Amino acid sequence: MSTSTTPTNAALFERSQRVIPGGVNSSIRAFKAVGGTPYLVARAEGPYIWDVEGNRYIDLVQSYGAIILGHAHPAITAAVSAAATRGTSYGAPTEGEMLLAEAIVARVRSVEMVRLMSSGTEATSTAVRLARGYTGRDRIVIFHGNFHGATDALLAAGGSGVATLGLPGTAGVPAAAVENTLVVPYNAVPVLDERVAAVFVEPVAANMGVVAPTAGFLAGLRAECDRVGALLVFDEVITGFRLGAGGAQAKYDIDADLTTYGKVIGGGLPIGAVGGRRAIMETLSPIGNVFQSGTLSGNPLATAAGRTALELLTPDVYVELMARTRHLSALMRDACVAAGLAAQFPVVGTLAGMFFGDGDAPTNFAEAKTTDERAFRTFFHAMLREGVALAPGAYEALFVGVAHADDVIEAIGAATERAAAATVAELVAT
Ligand SMILES: *Cc1c(COP(=O)(O)O)cnc(C)c1O
Repeated sequence: MSTSTTPTNAALFERSQRVIPGGVNSSIRAFKAVGGTPYLVARAEGPYIWDVEGNRYIDLVQSYGAIILGHAHPAITAAVSAAATRGTSYGAPTEGEMLLAEAIVARVRSVEMVRLMSSGTEATSTAVRLARGYTGRDRIVIFHGNFHGATDALLAAGGSGVATLGLPGTAGVPAAAVENTLVVPYNAVPVLDERVAAVFVEPVAANMGVVAPTAGFLAGLRAECDRVGALLVFDEVITGFRLGAGGAQAKYDIDADLTTYGKVIGGGLPIGAVGGRRAIMETLSPIGNVFQSGTLSGNPLATAAGRTALELLTPDVYVELMARTRHLSALMRDACVAAGLAAQFPVVGTLAGMFFGDGDAPTNFAEAKTTDERAFRTFFHAMLREGVALAPGAYEALFVGVAHADDVIEAIGAATERAAAATVAELVAT
């Protein structure tokens, strides 16, 4: 007979820390920004996650946006299971990867071809190489507070994780790796010159809270890139297929030259992609001279999951998600107002953010950084006690998905009322 005792989050995290640096495989998961011990997830279904102690939380992390249909969606699970019985990776082309590429190309006007890989970071680092190879120029322009994954050339100023840790960049990136990277403020069109290969931008910033592009910003970037012959790269790893089928570029009616994807297009499995105009994309090897490869690229499980996700994301779904996101943000705002907790919940389409403090929602990183991190930490733990899991960082989005039905949204609203009151009490007391 087994005498198994329920493992605790604390005991398992302690064990993890012995073999995994910080106990996590992605820095922000460590609760460093909020304090305390992370919960270890045992399973997830729909809008819920359960930790190893059996506690259930309404999940607004949703794998940082990789999940949009809810956890363990039956159609995704079936697609992945069926694919797995046919083998998990071959190292040869497949029909499945062609079908996902076709699905992306059919939905995004500026994307004529797409190369699939296994993470958003791979996608952005490939886009850097491709932009440089295509233009024959070295310089890359990025925006302060935008995040493009863990790739050296784009870690000049950092993004969500780095901002939360309060570091200027990161150790381990040689000066030479970023000497051609220019970091400029978000929502201001920089003056470019002919040394610039590409401008990388999150068309809706979702890694410094949620910050909308101001009127004319994206069109201004398009015009400035065209003026000097630089490529405009939209990093739609979060916004792609989350804001709508056409992503941010359809919402704002701007065509990017290259677009990077990840998260939603993998249906919750590891994926990344670079898409764009044919002439640029054919600069990639084996046609062109810009090298790219990946053992697990176009993985059959990921492409099956991704294809299923895109099929289920009909226009009606986005309309519904927008309404829910607006409703959630209004409920949370009202709850904070009622409790006397100064907070903003900016919404851009299906994305909602959180900002603690008086005043308007931020328009750039300097403003986003004025968020009251202590209020966030306190609110984060109060919400967790109320059974709602937020991402453990003050600069992350709230990910509302198909599984967050009206009753779940209402439950988050009610939890926010209690958590906001508890936060105010705690902030006053300490
Ligand atoms: C998540 C993210 C990335 C990195 O994707 P990974 O799959 O985590 O490597 C890149 N850009 C943006 C905008 C992201 O949100």
